[in-house]
Amino acid sequence: MTPEQARQTQATVERTLREAEVNPYEMFRAQVDLAGEKLGYPADILEMVKRPERVLEVSVPVRMDDGRIEVFRGYRVQHSSVRGPCKGGIRFHPAVTIDEVKALAGWMTWKCAVVDIPLGGGKGGVVCDPTTLSEGELERLTRRYTAMILPLIGPHHDIPAPDVNTNARIMNWVMDTATALRGEPMYGIVTGKDLAVGGARGRREATGRGVVIVIEELLARLGREVAGATVAVQGFGNVGSVAAQLLHAKGAKVVGVSDISGALYDPTGLDIPSLLEHVSRSPQRLIAGYTAPGVQPLAGPEVLTLDVDVLVPAALEGQITEVNAGQIKARVIVEGANGPTTPEADLILEERGRVVAPDILANAGGVVVSYFEWVQNLQNFYWEEAETNERLAVILRRAFQSVWDNAKKHDVSLRTAAFMMGLERVVEAIRLRGVFP
Ligand code: GLU
Repeated sequence: MTPEQARQTQATVERTLREAEVNPYEMFRAQVDLAGEKLGYPADILEMVKRPERVLEVSVPVRMDDGRIEVFRGYRVQHSSVRGPCKGGIRFHPAVTIDEVKALAGWMTWKCAVVDIPLGGGKGGVVCDPTTLSEGELERLTRRYTAMILPLIGPHHDIPAPDVNTNARIMNWVMDTATALRGEPMYGIVTGKDLAVGGARGRREATGRGVVIVIEELLARLGREVAGATVAVQGFGNVGSVAAQLLHAKGAKVVGVSDISGALYDPTGLDIPSLLEHVSRSPQRLIAGYTAPGVQPLAGPEVLTLDVDVLVPAALEGQITEVNAGQIKARVIVEGANGPTTPEADLILEERGRVVAPDILANAGGVVVSYFEWVQNLQNFYWEEAETNERLAVILRRAFQSVWDNAKKHDVSLRTAAFMMGLERVVEAIRLRGVFP
């Protein structure tokens, strides 16, 4: 396929996906209803756990480099604090909507409950395209957004972290802004920071590392192993690139990867270290422009339908829908992203015997190590990376086993089993705390 044909195919597939009209908050509500129905929970409890506790919309004026003021729209949603302080990332993306942030906040609640860490769920977002912002504009946007959500966040209330298009540098600014405004050190107000300013060893790689642990567990249950397995990865950011790197190191063949700039395919397995090297040198950290013998370009969405053992969607939500679920060939789908598969697509995949390791389990490695970072900040006592990785593996392998057993016990998908576990733990906490007043 020529690059021009690839571009046209990509445009057609993207249009089709848009027509599937994925509303993440509706997806979230449908998933809770399904799990709630299996557990026989009454409608009032389900209504309570579907709605976020608090929603904040802020306007974020930023002085741009050319002197103009641009006003961005931002959100912070606290979905649930019944099991602990709200926890969840901040996303900078042009397609951020309030319904997306509400869904993402809710998924954080189940995620923390499934891996059984004492945190609730929250999420933030700013509607912006960070690729068009200068370094100074990005910093001023981050600091003003932090100031605007400061009444809600705090080490004992709500602790943000990185998400799509945000990273350690942005988290450092969040911490520094909160520290300046509150007049006291605020290391524990945000996780995912750089090591020199209260970050935890192993946090950057944690989500990708967790995805790989879940792939290992799932393949083992199916009598397979990572070495020799073929893999396709959608998204080559913090989650997808680390997962690809670790899988490659364990002897898997990563045959396809994609990001916003396109997709690459090599049936004999891509040379992931050399691709990472290329990405680290590219100004926007993209795979575009990478060439090597045997590597062919693909249309981005085609990476989802490659004939592989394992598919890792690690980009955005709503990627696998009723439109393309029938064409997914991977036996196993491990969700590095939040919400990549719609409930309609789940049913199609289930009918076709595909096994999905759901986001709230598969990508929980990030928040588990965020929890470790927060604990280290509160104690001002820092761990070695080996300790972090060991504890992460123990938590994820245990959670995987519980979800797997629960799915067998109730004869449901891994997603429904994980949602049921999360929901049970949250509802138990509501029952024990009671409903105020
Ligand atoms: N944004 C990540 C997630 O969706 C990490 C959240 C956190 O570490 O608090 O799980």
